[in-house]
Amino acid sequence: MLGAWLLLWGGLAAGADPALLRRADDGAGRCTYSFTVASPSEASCPEAGGALRAELAALAARLSLLESREPGATVAESPRACGELRRAAARLEEDKGRLEREKEELRRRLESSARELARLRAGCPPRGDGPLRDALHGSGQASRWDPQTVDYQELKSARMEVPASRLLQETAQGRAGAEDSGCGELVWVGEPVVFGQADSIAGKYGVWMKDPEPVPPFTRATTWRVDTVGTEVRQLFQYDDAEQFSKGYPAKVHILPRALESTGAVVYRGGLYFQQRRSRLLAKYDLRGEAIVAEKEIPGAGYHGQYPYSWGGYTDIDLAVDETGLWVIYSTEKAKGAIVLSKLDPETLEIQRSWETNIRKQSVANAFVICGVLYTISSYTVPNATVNFSYDTATGTSRPLSIPFQNRYQYLSMVDYNPAERQLFAWDSFHMVAYPVRLARA
Ligand code: CA
Repeated sequence: MLGAWLLLWGGLAAGADPALLRRADDGAGRCTYSFTVASPSEASCPEAGGALRAELAALAARLSLLESREPGATVAESPRACGELRRAAARLEEDKGRLEREKEELRRRLESSARELARLRAGCPPRGDGPLRDALHGSGQASRWDPQTVDYQELKSARMEVPASRLLQETAQGRAGAEDSGCGELVWVGEPVVFGQADSIAGKYGVWMKDPEPVPPFTRATTWRVDTVGTEVRQLFQYDDAEQFSKGYPAKVHILPRALESTGAVVYRGGLYFQQRRSRLLAKYDLRGEAIVAEKEIPGAGYHGQYPYSWGGYTDIDLAVDETGLWVIYSTEKAKGAIVLSKLDPETLEIQRSWETNIRKQSVANAFVICGVLYTISSYTVPNATVNFSYDTATGTSRPLSIPFQNRYQYLSMVDYNPAERQLFAWDSFHMVAYPVRLARA
């Protein structure tokens, strides 16, 4: 038997295919032999590689299944994680809703701005063609501007030369202090100096101001600006100083509780004084407390296009500040369109006293008060305009003047005197400018 096995082994060993003989004790004192021969093809023999691949494929499928079920499995396995995920989902839903609402609001505002811009572009008259007011604010009341009256008054204003000997006291820019009243009559207006420039249509006209008697925390350097283009003017820009103002970097934007109309506002003793929209009501807005602290109606005052300056723009009620206090320039039916000048109590806005002049309000471009004397400007658009009339409240008399006044950008929408700076602040077609002045004692 052993010989037969060896013969078989020898025969197999002589073949090309390798064979492996194994011997082992079967545990019962017997020796078992086994050998393995590679077979090129044997259908009955199970394929080891195939089984392994099948097993690997099954594992991969299981792994894939586990991966695909991982979130669900985690949620199922951790109630706390489940709660967090639900809360996060709720927050995302809330954010989504809020962003949708903001998107809708921005879309609405964009459309509104586009309409306003289109309206301004379509309605803006060529420079010098007349008041912009009607174009901006729809038909409303027709302008009562009468250019013939302007010519008449300008022709009537006789040239008045001021001898050098009368220039007794001149105070250059920024040197006039409260202790130096330096009062006198206006004899000279210098060239405009640009302090700021608007970069959008909203700043074509407006009003810029400094408080001649500031109240802390504000200072003489604090500068204020309102762009008055549009129908709902409520933004008051506050700048720390001239540099921030010129750069257009406000320190704060106040939102006024009432809409403001036109370019007649002033800042005085810590308050913004302004005319409320479509109203003869004046308001005092406390700059520190950020609230309206006084309101008063100007009896009989025309407003919203009844008695504007020649520029238009609803400049019916114009506030002014001088060395002596707070004033309001307007007109009434009783005065038949002539300028009425009233002194106001800055606390209560009560009228303390009024003067009726013989200067037609609609025939002049703007007005301001220096040392109790009202001065008017002949034109808002002629490059070489003049300060053409004065009215002295001390004597109750007016007289023609011809002090050169330069409209450099030919669209003068606001002029105010600042007694502390001793300058005229003005807004001339996107430009915030100031003119030095000289006063002379009579
Ligand atoms: Ca004015």
